[in-house]
Amino acid sequence: MNIIKVMDDLLSNKIAAGEVVERPASIVKELVENSIDADSTIIEIALEEAGLMKIRVTDNGKGMSSVDAVQSFERHATSKIMNEHDLFRIRTLGFRGEALASIASVTKINLWTSDGETTGTEVHIEGGHLISHKSAALRKGTDITVSQLFYNTPARLKYMKTIQTELGHTIGLVNRLALSHPEIAFKLTHYSQTILQTSGSGDQLRVFSDIYGIGLAKKMISFEGSNADYKVSGYVSLPEQTRASRNYITLMVNGRWVKSYAIDRAILDAFHTYLPIGRLPIAIVNIVGDPILTDVNVHPSKQQIRMSKEGELLSLIQEAIGQAIRQNVIVPSAVKKE
Ligand code: ADP
Ligand code: MG
Repeated sequence: MNIIKVMDDLLSNKIAAGEVVERPASIVKELVENSIDADSTIIEIALEEAGLMKIRVTDNGKGMSSVDAVQSFERHATSKIMNEHDLFRIRTLGFRGEALASIASVTKINLWTSDGETTGTEVHIEGGHLISHKSAALRKGTDITVSQLFYNTPARLKYMKTIQTELGHTIGLVNRLALSHPEIAFKLTHYSQTILQTSGSGDQLRVFSDIYGIGLAKKMISFEGSNADYKVSGYVSLPEQTRASRNYITLMVNGRWVKSYAIDRAILDAFHTYLPIGRLPIAIVNIVGDPILTDVNVHPSKQQIRMSKEGELLSLIQEAIGQAIRQNVIVPSAVKKE
């Protein structure tokens, strides 16, 4: 007897949502990454109940045509890659074409979008079902509201932590997105209260100052270096400004916030014996290299990355930061015995 069947899209979207849509912050990440990929220069994120009730992301990017506005919610639908060749040269933050389909399967969505060429479009989707699709007079850009997260997956909803914890995750994420794109003006609000606002001036240290305060920003030292494949640059704190957690280390590869224990280690090694035991520096590390050297297709959340010539990259980071520290740390001269 033949008993195997291919799942319908709605079911497979819900399964994929388990990986992509872990908590409100993961939805904010996917929506804002889409706004960044659409070449927006202004992105606003408005939350209610830490995003569990409502997440609204407004951008002034490319927008979508009426057909694309509906197509964007289809599984594996993307404008970012077309073939295998593209998969190994990814320059955009998204490429899997599954975020909107997954998010739509576990929430209610209202999308307003316009590509500035044709009439704008308004789309309403609930639990993956298209409820309405009509034209609307809109300015170029996209405005998407995701509400009632996990309303049809109660087990996932129960798993959510407190409002403060969920909000903390989202703030940490938006801080990183703003740091990785200082040329974009970001605004994050919770019930209309502004949590973060950046100017979009392109100055990364200014974004750092918007997040951590001008006092700390003034104490950061810059570093840079390059080898045949990679360019690295950024800011690190001096050894007297350390923290007890890795959360203050932000790594960016070609404008994507990533996590890497190996790179964290290289930063720590650069500080050598200057760091007190159990303390970590504050660091912003930008890595730029040909996309062919990096593989982001490791996990649906796209936060892990595999890098070619990693050994050389780690030495480069360690050397560049090490040099900056040696130039800035005043080593007390040994007390001379007469
Ligand atoms: P991916 O980002 O991997 O392509 P998504 O499901 O996140 O997949 O989005 C599907 C498509 O919808 C994108 O490829 C893009 O063409 C379009 N899209 C989504 N959000 C926006 C936006 N804010 N502005 C313009 N186009 C968008
Ligand atoms: Mg996307």
